Amino acid sequence: MIAVKAEELIAEAASIIGKSRRLVAFSGAGVSEESGIPTFRDPGGLWDRFDPLELGGGDIFTSMFGGAAIPQAAVDFVAEMVAVLERAHPNPGHYALGELEKMGILRSVITQNIDNLHREGGNTRIIEVHGNLFRLVCMACGSKLLLSRDELFALGRELVELMMKGDLQGIVKLVSRCPECGGPCRLDVVGFGEPVQDMGLAMSEARDADVLLILGTSGMVYPAAYIPEHAKKTGAKLVEINATGIYFSDLVDVGIVGKSGEVLPPIVERVKDIKSYNIF
Ligand SMILES: [Zn+2]
Repeated sequence: MIAVKAEELIAEAASIIGKSRRLVAFSGAGVSEESGIPTFRDPGGLWDRFDPLELGGGDIFTSMFGGAAIPQAAVDFVAEMVAVLERAHPNPGHYALGELEKMGILRSVITQNIDNLHREGGNTRIIEVHGNLFRLVCMACGSKLLLSRDELFALGRELVELMMKGDLQGIVKLVSRCPECGGPCRLDVVGFGEPVQDMGLAMSEARDADVLLILGTSGMVYPAAYIPEHAKKTGAKLVEINATGIYFSDLVDVGIVGKSGEVLPPIVERVKDIKSYNIF
């Protein structure tokens, strides 16, 4: 294979995306990592260092209801998660996707990330197959409640304080905030062994896409990893951007090794040029 310069690959990707009418992005942990969020499942990630079974998987709040004592590991986990999320902000890759949506090209973002950064980056149609840390779900009636950054961080800090005091009643009171029934809520994220969310919707978006933009996902986490395969089978062109290598090399039309925050903005600039050129 002839080595092609990154600029040529960026031009090729821009040409494919510029012609797209139903672009769908599919993002994974690499995109969040660029915003300072360590991958949760990989070695060194939060769920690697803290035993998820001890903590009750994604169900951090409810894991504490059953036992008399709150494990120090659970306190550390919540405290560190709040600190990590407070530091994290959308990176230029997130904003580039927001721009593509405003330009009427990007139809939706399917993401494995749970950090809400796509929404903060300007996207409105987001399918979060592993849930969202900024959303609570009522354990009594299933109602969902999206929190603002301030609300989540205030809740997290209050939770850590109550956990350190071992105040279980206080914790139950704190998380009982369902807007419909007042019932106790948990974080709406998919824990180990739990089914992914909105997978049918994600697959139908992939099927209807004319271009799938794969960002920062190694394709190791099933079933979400089926999405590129499904899009390809139903006729989409595939563009992959990944800092650590091209993982779907047998499927993609263009693969660019690089950070999405560095590669996507110049692609979007070129797409704008293509669009304005077409007008005249
Ligand atoms: Zn409820």
